[in-house]
Amino acid sequence: MTKERLYLFDTTLRDGAQTNGVDFTLADKLAIAAMLDELGIDYVEGGYPGANPTDTELFGTKRKLKAKFTAFGMTRRPGRSAANDPGLAMLLDAQADAICFVAKSWDYHVKVALETTGEENIASIRDSVRAAKAKGREVLLDCEHFFDGYKANPGYALACARAAHEEGARWVVLCDTNGGTLPHEVEKIVGDVVKVIPGDHVGIHAHNDTEQAVANSFAAVRAGARQIQGTLNGLGERCGNANLVSIIPTLKLKPDYADRFDIGVSDAALNKLAHISHALDERLNRAPNRHAPYVGESAFVTKAGIHASAILKDPATYEHVAPERVGNRRKVLVSEQAGKSNVLAELERVGIKADKDDPRITRLLEIVKEREAIGYAYEAADASFELLARRTLGAVPNYFDVTQFDVNVEQRFNAAGEQVTVAMAVVKVKVGDESMISAAEGNGPVNALDQALRKDLGKYQKYIAGLTLSDFRVRILNAGTEAVTRVLIESEDENGERWTTVGVSPNIIDASFQALMDSVVFKLVKSGAPV
Ligand SMILES: [Zn+2]
Repeated sequence: MTKERLYLFDTTLRDGAQTNGVDFTLADKLAIAAMLDELGIDYVEGGYPGANPTDTELFGTKRKLKAKFTAFGMTRRPGRSAANDPGLAMLLDAQADAICFVAKSWDYHVKVALETTGEENIASIRDSVRAAKAKGREVLLDCEHFFDGYKANPGYALACARAAHEEGARWVVLCDTNGGTLPHEVEKIVGDVVKVIPGDHVGIHAHNDTEQAVANSFAAVRAGARQIQGTLNGLGERCGNANLVSIIPTLKLKPDYADRFDIGVSDAALNKLAHISHALDERLNRAPNRHAPYVGESAFVTKAGIHASAILKDPATYEHVAPERVGNRRKVLVSEQAGKSNVLAELERVGIKADKDDPRITRLLEIVKEREAIGYAYEAADASFELLARRTLGAVPNYFDVTQFDVNVEQRFNAAGEQVTVAMAVVKVKVGDESMISAAEGNGPVNALDQALRKDLGKYQKYIAGLTLSDFRVRILNAGTEAVTRVLIESEDENGERWTTVGVSPNIIDASFQALMDSVVFKLVKSGAPV
């Protein structure tokens, strides 16, 4: 039996950016888009070109993604022509594969919020879809407040959806904007809609205000919708959007869906789901939700007792799916074998071949456990993990030694009488028999240290010349009895490749230095620098 294709649309970078406390930089957006692409998401909505400088810049360049990179924005303003609406023009000019328009579909909102007539709103939908089609874009229409609108005036809500479909919009997306609709209502209303618009042109966009955004998404699919919109980790304003990190494994692993539908996420990509979910949290500088379904640290933890002994005999007794399928791990058994397979999976993920019977793998596992217990986060710091693994497996040469460093921060008045804070670092490096000393000023102690470290590495200098630091994140952790600082540093090289390294210490400079060193050494390994 051929399966039906179900499409996934991610709006982490647009609706997810509305999350309280979340503020994506351009680098964040590009990194998250790459993660989504790696996962196999069909549509990546990048943002709202014209609404802020980040999104305008994001859409100023053609982005190379397998996914359809989608720009979001409003239909033409009432009372204007499509050709004479600067907002619409920005959207049409955006370097995007698809355009997702948002339009009102609740007659009450059209009157009160938009202050226009129902006919003009529909004309605006038609004109906008047509204009985007003429530009060669694939078009989606988000029908805002669709479910509330449908309850109030089903004829009008449907007329809005139909107008877009008739003009050739690939998808008409039914939005539960206020998030208050319940699954049985979603199923009933979507069932009505697909009598008028074929289900393979209908999407669902659910918000989580009754904690049923995921259930509502599945209710819509059961009723015939074939596109699900959501965000990574359920990011989104108020209570969030439908969580794709929960939806994807359910679609892949639960036979009711898996036997009927194909999605763009491969089994191999599904294995990376926990990693991707945690990497996003690290990027946002938030602690991952331990209790997140499928990917949370506690999702497959069983406390001792009869469950644990049953799980030891056969994990399926107390697990609804196998944790490895989503890249998570079982945690009752700290049996050597379980942890080892986990490390082997990580090695495979970063492309290191290893023999599972190699005793050094057991040693690596011990080191990872010890270090994670004191605050290292290897899921977020691929490069540090890879270095640790290569070192334990005996494959990292000792390129250079830092024999001493000194960082000094001084606040004083300058010649103009202004109070300034100046940071200065001195680093002593030994490369082979050659000793070098470099000093640099920076806009902070870590910056100064970085500048000094990378100023002169002798024969290795040419390998690190294109290295830049693109992000620096600090978190205070309570590991054990005292607070420690975790520093994550993201680096980029001349080829646009990025990697993240980690350092942990009670002292922020020390933690930063570890992460800086890992970054430089990682670059040398990656470039195949000779010893
Ligand atoms: Zn929304």
